[in-house]
Amino acid sequence: MLSSFRKFTLPFALLLVMAVANSLVAQKLVAQKVLQPEPQQGEKLVPDGTGNSVLVPDNDSKQKVRGPNGINYHGGPVLQGNPVPIYLIWYGTWTNVTGSDTMATVNLVEHYVNSLGNTPYEKINSTYTDTTGSVSGNVTLGGAIFDTGSQGTGLNNTALSAIVTRSFSNGLPTDPNGVYLVLTSSNVSEQGFCSSFCGFHTHQTLNGTDIKWGFIGNPDRCPSGCEIQTTGPNSPQTGVGGADGLINVLTHEQEEAISDPDLNAWFDKRGEENADKCNFNFGATQKCSSGSLCSAAGDSAGALFNQSFGNNNWMIQQNWENANGGGCVQHFP
Ligand SMILES: [Zn+2]
Repeated sequence: MLSSFRKFTLPFALLLVMAVANSLVAQKLVAQKVLQPEPQQGEKLVPDGTGNSVLVPDNDSKQKVRGPNGINYHGGPVLQGNPVPIYLIWYGTWTNVTGSDTMATVNLVEHYVNSLGNTPYEKINSTYTDTTGSVSGNVTLGGAIFDTGSQGTGLNNTALSAIVTRSFSNGLPTDPNGVYLVLTSSNVSEQGFCSSFCGFHTHQTLNGTDIKWGFIGNPDRCPSGCEIQTTGPNSPQTGVGGADGLINVLTHEQEEAISDPDLNAWFDKRGEENADKCNFNFGATQKCSSGSLCSAAGDSAGALFNQSFGNNNWMIQQNWENANGGGCVQHFP
């Protein structure tokens, strides 16, 4: 059983300190849509360090753009790269022969990231702009490395920072315009993973550079909390849904890391970023069947999918369209 996510009732000052000291934004578990009350005059909600949001005094001197699309601009940059490089750090043991901690998962996820750029799906993110330009909707696999366990199998956010820092001397560039994702195998724990979130993104100065990084655990550690189905369109066997589940969480985090990289660009009055507003909301789906692009296990299970590109079917959440009045959609335009 998963413990349900509980709202913090800490004193306001402590929350403010937490928000400033360690801001990160997490993807909540399946069916977990906890909405904040709307802020009163003189307050605003911002993403906090727990995957929820926190009320702080709204004393911005900048005039905020109150968009008509249900999500607001707060003055910070978006990632405008065309493409935005996504760097993957495969942490733990990814060389098992069965299950989802396998090279088959590694290859599938890297193929996904390389297929995602400029799809009508990823173009939804191009509806986000800053004062100098917009998100391109193009991404690419900027590089990938393995870290077989430099910080052990029980992680916290400090350990994750160390894993990202280590990647700079282990083959990845120090790139302020990219997104670094630490992907952990299912034997690795991370504080809060599976109990209050499935993944998160944040930013931090590492190597003297403002690095955007995120965490995504193999959701086969907690399928009921972080997977929409236990057999996905690309499952290697019945009941092994980790790769498809991981791809869904990765999709969520890269959308937010690109549209709100420093946690000061795009989120709504409740502190929810674009992908948060469509968390585990898939829209219309189809069923895998013989002759579809699904795996044999996906076919026989009748796994659901809602996207097809890169010669595969995928089951990925919708994203919030910052146009046409706003809404969770599967493609743009
Ligand atoms: Zn999120």
